[in-house]
Amino acid sequence: MKIVIIGGSIAGMACALSLQKSGHRVSILERRSSNASGGFGMILDANTCQNLRELGVSISGHTHVIGQYHVHDLNHNFHSRQPLQGCQGIERQRLVSQMRSQLQPGTIHFGAEFDHFIMDKNGSTRAAALRNGKIIEADLFIGADGVRSKIRRDCFPESTLNSVKSVEIVGMTPFETIPTELQGTFKKFMNYREGAAMGMVPTADQKVIWYFQWDLRRWPQTLLDSEARSDWLKSELRRWPTLVRKVVGSEDLRHCHLWRTTDMDLPSRFHKGNVLLVGDAAHPLLTFTSQGVGSALEDGLTLGDTLNDWNSTSVDSLDRRLTDFADKRIPVLQRRLKEGRSLQRQFLGLESQFIGRVPVCA
Ligand SMILES: Cc1cc2nc3c(=O)[nH]c(=O)nc-3n(C[C@H](O)[C@H](O)[C@H](O)COP(=O)(O)OP(=O)(O)OC[C@H]3O[C@@H](n4cnc5c(N)ncnc54)[C@H](O)[C@@H]3O)c2cc1C
Repeated sequence: MKIVIIGGSIAGMACALSLQKSGHRVSILERRSSNASGGFGMILDANTCQNLRELGVSISGHTHVIGQYHVHDLNHNFHSRQPLQGCQGIERQRLVSQMRSQLQPGTIHFGAEFDHFIMDKNGSTRAAALRNGKIIEADLFIGADGVRSKIRRDCFPESTLNSVKSVEIVGMTPFETIPTELQGTFKKFMNYREGAAMGMVPTADQKVIWYFQWDLRRWPQTLLDSEARSDWLKSELRRWPTLVRKVVGSEDLRHCHLWRTTDMDLPSRFHKGNVLLVGDAAHPLLTFTSQGVGSALEDGLTLGDTLNDWNSTSVDSLDRRLTDFADKRIPVLQRRLKEGRSLQRQFLGLESQFIGRVPVCA
């Protein structure tokens, strides 16, 4: 069957890889240019690494193995140390290019921004209209266009994002050698009494991805313009330990990324007719559990299985399969959403339990 995926990031590519394995003709429409990957990097858990292997994507040699999770207070005293099984730090750019390399040639079209759908006389979606005027027909349309999805807004207006309660400031710093304290270690510094925390993850490319989490009610400075925010962060850094200053202080803080965390109640289905949502477009997860990439890959694998021998344009047959997809995905996603909300509640409530919980959810 002919399938068009809108959005060529992790969820879009995971679906494409899996559906191509099942023999479908797949095109990806991506609004960005081919050299933009968006974002810095992430920690992948063991299950996510296994799912990448299942999709035929090798990350070997591109990651930094993370075997420990260390939590400190602002005086660098240890709060806790816990072993991590099979976690790896990776630059987003690396992950994206490894996934892209496994797509069939010509799958992904860059500079192709989705604008609206065109319906047929039976009320099914017939084609996607792009901003550049092109019209692309297909049997199934998959919206993988991220947390602020246009397709979700247009086709699922009842699903709305909840307002922002915490924000993250994210960046990446290159080193000649990863600082010894960070080798093999995901480190977090907690200032939980003031609603602030900072995490660091090393990658294979001698870079450290770092992020600050801030309770927005206590830290409205996080929303200043990039110049003023950079000045504020530089002075705030003086209160943080030497390692934090070493990792963050050498960067041009005007270029770090402000991430307004969002969440959304899960719908009971991810499809309407022949339009399906996947990844962050379908189920934005709070950042506290580091599960956005893992969940996007699982969507792809589950969808590939669900549509493995799908070869009928019958509306009922597609509806049954996509209902099955939702039935498989919702219990897993519900658990992650709950875990993320619980971590956020503890963070915003300045609760000390927040410190003891490993922010990587299986
Ligand atoms: C700074 C940052 C750090 C992160 N860190 C982590 C982490 O540590 N661990 C983790 O698991 N997750 C992390 N995430 C989340 C993770 O990246 C996402 O959950 C994951 O990429 C799945 O997203 P997605 O593919 O559904 O959407 P996205 O990655 O947001 O991709 C959506 C794609 O759709 C394209 N698009 C949007 N609109 C249109 C349109 N109209 N037409 C065509 N294309 C369109 C966009 O250009 C983009 O390529 C992070 C995200 C960010 C931004």
